[in-house]
Amino acid sequence: MAEITIEHWIRDVPDFPKPGIVFKDITPLLQDAEGLRASIEGLVQAFDPDSYDIVCGIESRGFIFGTALADRVNKGFIPIRKPGKLPWKTASQSYELEYGSDTIEIHTDATERGNRVLMVDDLLATGGTMEAGLKLVRRIGGSPVGCAFVIELDFLSGRDRLGDIPVQALLNV
Ligand code: AMP
Repeated sequence: MAEITIEHWIRDVPDFPKPGIVFKDITPLLQDAEGLRASIEGLVQAFDPDSYDIVCGIESRGFIFGTALADRVNKGFIPIRKPGKLPWKTASQSYELEYGSDTIEIHTDATERGNRVLMVDDLLATGGTMEAGLKLVRRIGGSPVGCAFVIELDFLSGRDRLGDIPVQALLNV
């Protein structure tokens, strides 16, 4: 995927949302037609569409990329959401943050048992969010086959928390 240089459209915002964090702002990528197309095309190429049945994205930026990808490869989409947002029966998973913890939820009937699921989010940092997402999908009977990110922050080694599952990122920084 070396030919895709999406770095051009990623804006670094220092000290957001708190001091010491360099926030990777993807809005310049989304608002540029070429950038948006390059990122979705990169995700299409990252995993063979024959290797998965459905795409799962994590709120909220995982929805943007995951849904566009799912449409491109003619598959459905599963949202993983913050607590209290999904209206049907849910499974919940909490995970640790630097300070405190967070929870994400999925509908218990979001996918058929045994379905192969491609997980999508905009950015892999410590891996806690995606680790929780993988647990949720497995708990409802899905079988995650890969994790695709637009950006991976290499220095945080987040992929080490995701086990043996293949991980692809369009941009490693
Ligand atoms: P983590 O659970 O640490 O891997 O964090 C991943 C989630 O937090 C993703 O949903 C990202 O959107 C968000 N995130 C974490 N760090 C950053 C960052 N430096 N810039 C933008 N988003 C981030």
